[in-house]
Amino acid sequence: MDGQLIAKVHEADAELVNCAVLAARAAQPDWEALDRIERADLFESLAGAVAARADDLADAETADTGRPRAQVMGAHVGRTIEVFRLYASLLRTWSEQAWHGRAASPNMATEAAPRTIAYTSRRALGVVAVIAPWNVPLLLLALNLVPALAAGNCIVAKPSEESPCSAALLAEILHDAGLPPGVFNLVHGFGANSTGAALVSNPGVDGIAFTGEGRAATQIMTAAATGLRPVLFELGGKNAGLVFADSDLDRAVEASALAAFANSGQVCLSIERLFVERPVFDGFVARLAELAGRQKLGPLISQSHRAKVHAAVEQAMAGGARLHAGGVIPPGEGAFYPATVLTGLSDNSPLLREETFGPVIHVSPFDHEDEAVSRANDTPYGLASMVWTRDLSRGHRMSARLRAGINWVNCWQVRDFLTPLQGLGRSGIGAQGGRESLDFFSQVTTTVVSL
Ligand code: NAD
Repeated sequence: MDGQLIAKVHEADAELVNCAVLAARAAQPDWEALDRIERADLFESLAGAVAARADDLADAETADTGRPRAQVMGAHVGRTIEVFRLYASLLRTWSEQAWHGRAASPNMATEAAPRTIAYTSRRALGVVAVIAPWNVPLLLLALNLVPALAAGNCIVAKPSEESPCSAALLAEILHDAGLPPGVFNLVHGFGANSTGAALVSNPGVDGIAFTGEGRAATQIMTAAATGLRPVLFELGGKNAGLVFADSDLDRAVEASALAAFANSGQVCLSIERLFVERPVFDGFVARLAELAGRQKLGPLISQSHRAKVHAAVEQAMAGGARLHAGGVIPPGEGAFYPATVLTGLSDNSPLLREETFGPVIHVSPFDHEDEAVSRANDTPYGLASMVWTRDLSRGHRMSARLRAGINWVNCWQVRDFLTPLQGLGRSGIGAQGGRESLDFFSQVTTTVVSL
């Protein structure tokens, strides 16, 4: 962010990663054997322990990311506590299925089939590697770590090299709160050719949950293929928003600014492509640009990331984009970048194809619904969408037609973690959240009993 040293962490080599994996393997049978309700009770107390250290975690996360502390307290720390509580309650009601009936067999006549009861049981995968990104470090770690633990797995986690502090503190908090040794192990380091690569290629890892970019996901999937290990991927997006002329424009413009500039645009669910119905297009762009000019944004994660974001804007300008706000690197220390509003690009311009992951939004006019849908869907990604309209029937219709894992109608980024989120296309593999995460982090077995 501003180049100051905030922490030093040790880059774990393959040998150290292997020690962490062996510790996890040793702890896993006892952890899985712990009664489900006892595990739920422990999760309640872990939530309390995290809440008791919320201030420290917020300090660490603010130092890691540069995001304003009040936002970190709510959006990162508060929601992390929520995740612990959610899985404590889901564990209490995690039920199996059972079927009474006659189970036919190829070895006997159907009429001789015995009466049976068949039921399912869930088993942990074993040792799970959890690899987290830097944009919302604590929460995005917790969203995989907590359900993986709840399902009886032991974990070796790696936070991003850009944001190691809050994860290190979380490990300390969970240890002090009574999580048994070896159940949650943390290693630090870089991704490719470093700790991350050593972790995902370690044969003692039984499953991999990764949040980050598609490029890293491709490398991780290649490593996961050895040993045929399952992967859960939450990746990037190039999310579209549609604003219809009948929408509550005051709310739509506020929401669009939030969707573009929250966390300085470093949100996988950010709206980077906005389509506004032509009759209200000019007025909407003017209002969005005015709002952009009033944004006070925190810094981007690093100077190199800012350079990447700015290069994308400069390339867009060279390609004929019109600048309505931002677009200029401010003087002074820190990797700050202003809220930027562009128009005028064709849909196949690089800025509208690849994720910018900065506070940059492009707005295009559209004339009718079908056109808006096909342009919004013209992307290999499929993470999120946003629709503004007063016609709720149209809102549902749009949600059914837009190719995205989560579709917001008249809102943005509101989510109950009980609900699943699955990136479509290049935005992910598998669903995260609620019961779906417990399903991913476990395997189902069936028992058939002849009665
Ligand atoms: P990144 O892929 O560069 O890194 C993410 C993590 O993976 C880091 O810990 C990194 O060290 C590690 N890593 C990188 N290469 C690796 C490899 N070859 N093997 C093992 N580990 C490796 O992503 P980032 O820049 O930290 O995060 C931003 C990206 O994450 C954006 O694309 C954003 O959209 C995406 N993201 C997605 C979600 C979601 O829920 N869908 C949430 C947040 C961020």
